[in-house]
Amino acid sequence: MDAVGPDFSKGAAWMAGEIVPIADAKISVLDWGLTHSDITYDVVHVWDGVFFRMDDYLDRFFESIAKLHLDVPQTRSEMREILHAIVARSGLQRSYVSLVASRGVPGIPGSRDPRDCINHFYAWCVPFVWVFTEEMVARGVKLMVPDFVQRIAPEAVDPTAKNYHWGDFTQGLIAAKQAHYDNTVLVDTNGNVTEGPGFNIFMVKDGIVRTPRRGMLEGITRRTAIEMCAACGIECVEEDVLLAEMMEADEVFATTTGGGVVAVVQMNERVFSNGVAGPVTSQLSQLYWNWHEDPKFIQPVNYQVSGE
Ligand SMILES: *Cc1c(COP(=O)(O)O)cnc(C)c1O
Repeated sequence: MDAVGPDFSKGAAWMAGEIVPIADAKISVLDWGLTHSDITYDVVHVWDGVFFRMDDYLDRFFESIAKLHLDVPQTRSEMREILHAIVARSGLQRSYVSLVASRGVPGIPGSRDPRDCINHFYAWCVPFVWVFTEEMVARGVKLMVPDFVQRIAPEAVDPTAKNYHWGDFTQGLIAAKQAHYDNTVLVDTNGNVTEGPGFNIFMVKDGIVRTPRRGMLEGITRRTAIEMCAACGIECVEEDVLLAEMMEADEVFATTTGGGVVAVVQMNERVFSNGVAGPVTSQLSQLYWNWHEDPKFIQPVNYQVSGE
């Protein structure tokens, strides 16, 4: 064994059976995952040495794989072992862990038939990623809802399969950043709020919580928020939410694996709850981290098995 081995501290990836430092993880330029965004992924997190709701993320990942008619050889338990192995190798206690299934490269060069592609799975982990920076979370997030770009229609690209089709989000993000907002949320063609790049959105009005029901990814953090509402005796409804209705909210919050339940204090010109996190948001946000100690949801990383 070398005295100084490769550096896994910035993350580790499992690529075709081998664990490599994150910087060395590569896919082919011919991969349809790259050339056609023909790829699905999921993101689970490790917080203080434990995976949170890993089986729920795996369920969603396998559903996404089926929706895209992908076929990867790894079983669920093999994937679980791979995730433990890469996090163990990195040594990370708080980590953003991605599972990816890609269409791959056609076995027949130049083929335009998706069935000729050799689908493949890979996975990688890096230090925990905050979708909203800790500074944004502390002061409350400001979102821009642009009027010149809409969320891609669910009839066109199924948003319930987590995907890399970010053309709409990226346009929104650029506009938001240029106008000094933190992030963006997109509406659909009917003016209903959908979601942002990597997060779902909720509103609270007169003590009732509402969140969009379609046109967005069904986030695991969204589900956790809905379950937390039930546990706290707060009414929570999944239904269409017009942007105009959200603008009348008492509180707005975002949910994401990359940070939990986060207060949104401004959308476009409108400021919510006097520019600070409202009571329902604060309660759910706190409970989210408390649930990271509930054995029902967590699985300790096996740091002893490093996949050698
Ligand atoms: C990942 C993601 C979310 C949030 O889902 P979580 O499972 O809670 O992390 C919401 N919207 C989009 C587009 C996403 O990619």
